[in-house]
Amino acid sequence: SLSNRFVYNANPSRVVFGTGTIESLPSEVERLDLKRVLVLSTPQQVELAEALSSRLGDKAAGIFSGATMHTPVAVTEEAMKVAAETGADGILAAGGGSTTGLGKALALRTGLPQIIIPTTYSGSEMTPILGETADGVKKTVTTPKVLPNVVIYDVDLTMSLPASLSGTSGINAIAHAVEALYARDKNPIIDLMASESIAALAGALPAISLDPGNTDARRKALYGAWLAGVCLGAVGMSLHHKLCHTLGGTYDLPHAETHTIVLPHALAYNASAIPDVIDRLRGVLGSENPALALYDLAGAVGARRALKDIGMPEDGISEACSIALSNPYWNPRPLEGEPLERLLQRAWAGSPPV
Ligand code: NAD
Repeated sequence: SLSNRFVYNANPSRVVFGTGTIESLPSEVERLDLKRVLVLSTPQQVELAEALSSRLGDKAAGIFSGATMHTPVAVTEEAMKVAAETGADGILAAGGGSTTGLGKALALRTGLPQIIIPTTYSGSEMTPILGETADGVKKTVTTPKVLPNVVIYDVDLTMSLPASLSGTSGINAIAHAVEALYARDKNPIIDLMASESIAALAGALPAISLDPGNTDARRKALYGAWLAGVCLGAVGMSLHHKLCHTLGGTYDLPHAETHTIVLPHALAYNASAIPDVIDRLRGVLGSENPALALYDLAGAVGARRALKDIGMPEDGISEACSIALSNPYWNPRPLEGEPLERLLQRAWAGSPPV
């Protein structure tokens, strides 16, 4: 039923979506009236950066290929130097959430216009959120200053995303949409996008796992990831995202895999407090038990399902539990010590959610 009152806050962004859309890069650069664009990538994707740089022709200012996980401030400062030396008047970030994070960090400091070309399903390009690390501490800033002027989604660039990363990155996106459905500031517009996103991703990811070259599934997954990013950027997240943040930060666990493991358990924990959301997810996922369906989905994409298998020590269970309880935050079901510890215990062991 339609809630009586809600606020819907749309973040501005222009989106070009499809196959072969990087062809539109020169016209997008023209639209923004840029003359010297600095291209960002990780060391692993420097070839992509070079290809985009040649597409830019005389409007390419240079390449900085040092983007890395968790957006360390030291790396941002190096990139700032390159931006200044090359006289860049715009930024092009091509890659996953790590490269997007660097682009956002530069935009925050310089105010330069930003083009993002995402190649994973992280959804960061749609959010006004930037996570940065300095001296091992991750801090989050939320400001529209980090939003890009345009996002170019090109399905072709996602074809090389390895099957395993596609699965976990896609379930990371599903987690944004699932938590949007029970956000404190939820609204019916975001509900629509979240449901569409989960359906698209849950359908596409097993097909990609079977055949990473399935272009139809790749298109659906990228579309679902875009919508999931909108959800993440529009409403507040709760238990699942906070737990993953704590676990990732404390035990240095891989981002997308941590999300993939925790999601079914976080949903099961919240289920009794959100019967309408569970009903909606039953329809979207075609399963009586949505938490179990998400656990099965992780299995279907070949992802690891136990925190112990991705580097979390067993004594971390009670430690993570106390960290979570010491920073209380809103969640549809209040945080309770024992049930939370049971949740972490199951996620650590890789048992199905209950
Ligand atoms: P990532 O950007 O770290 O990419 C992982 C690796 O895959 C990198 O080496 C990258 O170069 C490579 N890669 C990316 N796309 C590829 C492709 N198509 N083909 C081949 N290789 C490819 O991983 P991610 O999961 O996209 O991003 C995770 C980071 O994003 C985390 O730091 C997380 O905190 C952040 N994040 C931020 C937000 C936000 O709103 N601020 C949202 C989601 C994620």
